[in-house]
Amino acid sequence: MYAFLPRELPEQLRALTELALNLRWTWNHALDELWKSIDPQLWERTHNPWLILQNTSPHRLGELCRDATFSQTLAHAIEEHRHYLSEPGWYAQQTSAGDSKRIAYFSMEFGLSEALALYAGGLGVLAGDYLKTASDMGVPVLGVGLLYQEGYFRQSIDAMGRQQEAYPYNDPTSLPIQPTFGQDGAWLKIPLALPGRTLYLRVWQAIVGRTSLYLLDSNDLLNGASDRGITSKLYGGGSEMRLLQEVVLGIGGWATLEALAINVDVCHLNEGHAALLVLERARRFMHQKGTSFQEAWWATRAGNVFTTHTPVAAGFDVFSAELVLKYARGYLDDCRLTSHELLALGRRNPSDADEPFNMAFLALRGCAQANGVSRLHGEVSRRLFSDLYPRWPVQEIPVGHVTNGVHVPSWDSMWSDHLWTTSCGKERWRGAVELLPATVANNDDEALWNMAAEQRRDLVNYARKRLAWQLEQRGESAQQVAEGGQVFDPNCLTLGFARRFTDYKRPNLLLHDSDRLARLLTNEQHPVQLLIAGKAHPADERGKQLIQAWLDFVHRPGLRRHVVFLEDYDLEMAQHLVQGVDVWINTPRRPWEACGTSGMKVLVNGGLNLSELDGWWAQAYQPAYGWAIGDDAPSDDDVDAERLYGLLENEVVPTFYSRDAQGIPRDWVQRMRASMSQLGPYYSSNRMLQEYLEHLYQPAIQAFRRRREDNAALARTLHAWQKALTAAWDNIHFGAVEGHRDGDCLCVRVPVYLGEISPLWVKVELYGGLCDEYPAECLLMKAVDVIPGAIQGYIYSISVAATRPLEHYTPRVRAWHADAFLPAENPLIAWQR
Ligand SMILES: *Cc1c(COP(=O)(O)O)cnc(C)c1O
Repeated sequence: MYAFLPRELPEQLRALTELALNLRWTWNHALDELWKSIDPQLWERTHNPWLILQNTSPHRLGELCRDATFSQTLAHAIEEHRHYLSEPGWYAQQTSAGDSKRIAYFSMEFGLSEALALYAGGLGVLAGDYLKTASDMGVPVLGVGLLYQEGYFRQSIDAMGRQQEAYPYNDPTSLPIQPTFGQDGAWLKIPLALPGRTLYLRVWQAIVGRTSLYLLDSNDLLNGASDRGITSKLYGGGSEMRLLQEVVLGIGGWATLEALAINVDVCHLNEGHAALLVLERARRFMHQKGTSFQEAWWATRAGNVFTTHTPVAAGFDVFSAELVLKYARGYLDDCRLTSHELLALGRRNPSDADEPFNMAFLALRGCAQANGVSRLHGEVSRRLFSDLYPRWPVQEIPVGHVTNGVHVPSWDSMWSDHLWTTSCGKERWRGAVELLPATVANNDDEALWNMAAEQRRDLVNYARKRLAWQLEQRGESAQQVAEGGQVFDPNCLTLGFARRFTDYKRPNLLLHDSDRLARLLTNEQHPVQLLIAGKAHPADERGKQLIQAWLDFVHRPGLRRHVVFLEDYDLEMAQHLVQGVDVWINTPRRPWEACGTSGMKVLVNGGLNLSELDGWWAQAYQPAYGWAIGDDAPSDDDVDAERLYGLLENEVVPTFYSRDAQGIPRDWVQRMRASMSQLGPYYSSNRMLQEYLEHLYQPAIQAFRRRREDNAALARTLHAWQKALTAAWDNIHFGAVEGHRDGDCLCVRVPVYLGEISPLWVKVELYGGLCDEYPAECLLMKAVDVIPGAIQGYIYSISVAATRPLEHYTPRVRAWHADAFLPAENPLIAWQR
């Protein structure tokens, strides 16, 4: 194994390299003691085995070689590690062995660990959790992303309460990654044709348990200075830089997989940033199989899955047509596309030459299947994308949902890990999780309440240390620092609020009536303490003001021991927070939170949620599990704030402090049990990955393979089918609908003139719209008679239960092919009226 170490490790210690280069240490803590024993101080500061390995002196290495206990621990550790890697795993037990299906997961961000910080927020953390889960469950996934030299910024707060941003340089040699070697044994470099020049991309690899993450990096000496900076910052730079990053991720990413000869069935686009990959995948397929571009598009689209993460149109990436043409010009000649045809792929209205190019639209058109990330977000997304499927009822827009989940072993505390291990076994997060709720619910009140106490104490210690360190960094007096080290009380009700400081998250809803909040916190009998953290995007002035408002509050006299703003919210801090809080608060403006995942992270640890009914909470909330603000309507700040304070004052605080003779708050613990057992397993990424497999990946794999075989025969057929339908579609017309009662039934007949379209290519349906009294209905009609003297004219008929009047129904004709994803791949539809 190649590794950037300052020197070779002695033979007896070589296994340390293998362990340190596999990011499994980010969620498997069995080896923490081993790493700590090498260098306790560095471990305390970084928790990064790879740094420890690089910084250990030869002298210390010599000592370790002679240390029999260390050698034994290491031998045991590497054996356990190799066992983990070689086990067949849950997925292999579900599918026929030997089948090498592969899923490539493309994402602009990956939040795996602070040792490899390639993320800005929830999108990246989700991608990190996804890879870890794929490893645990043995699902053959690999990740594709970018290696940023600076990543997202680091936050500090100055004495005035203003956010300051710093961009420390990620020295690749100190990151737990390795160069990827090509088939010729040299460091793999991917050439990409850009206008007038070639861009060279270096390929790195991070090992995440059993899966790999390939990272592209433009910082190569062969590139010009500006090109070297393409992968410098995450979400920095202007529109052109952003497009270049997306070119690297989508086009460079697909080229990398081909250069490594990795056969992929499914490409999963985590958000639209990687959308250009659908063009590149089709282009290369076209050359390999000798098809037209459109036929290749039909073949490869079956294997593409798109997950959208934003609930507002403003969240989509759009680029000017000019810019897109500048970088996609190569496709025009090669794929025989006109610029109009190419640009149409990213436009709501393909014939509107003024419309900019939207990456989410390209993704939707280039992927046979698409989904939002919670039930509510699925509904919102169907509305957002409805224009791309003209004349389709909104509930039939082909965007479903898979609710996000979290990789539980990354978020559980030492104490909850112990409790879950005792009740559900060590392997509980390695496969399906349906059976866990019943088992974990058996824990008694004492066990749960003790766990909460240990976790809270740990968080209080963390917050004290962290605050003292923060004050030191700012150059505060020794007395200030010492006071910082004494804030909080380990027996006090602890609330947490941490997330990106952006307007729609309403991070200041709690401050709506700041005096009322201050009174709540400092109540003498029932005190409350609050942890706040979060970054504002460097360009988001409003977000920075929201931070400053919190700092003003924190600095009020008398509040110091009750509320703390922790700087530089990141994965590691999130872990501490979700492990130790009693209540996690989330106040987004509905329906702007697509899903939200931080609240899911507290579940396993017995933390409760108090949240707006938005994202995942809108589908998870029950009174037995926690508390809710807001309702079905768009949020109102005044109403929501009143409800938030009311819940805290009248329900949360009293329930927490109402103790029985043994000192246990029975109702509180009952909520902990319910939330932990009923919600914890369901909102895990195990359930999420299983849903992706069953509902999206399996259909994608089967369809892609069928379309590819026999030199893409089926893809060619499907393309021809669509072409013929499109040409003749406007000639479809209907006669008058006729209905008569037949007992309890209503018999409906309608003449349909299909013209040049074969009845085998369409379905004729009777559609009853959604209205107050009735759900939407869609019933298949049958051709019962030929209309004499008409070219493909038929009487279609159906008999329905006579519950609704005839006027509720409208016949319609839609494109139909058993091998297509519909209406996603062909939204042609004609209505009788
Ligand atoms: C989980 C997590 C997020 C996402 O949380 P939201 O629920 O979307 O606010 C963001 N940042 C970090 C560091 C996280 O751990």
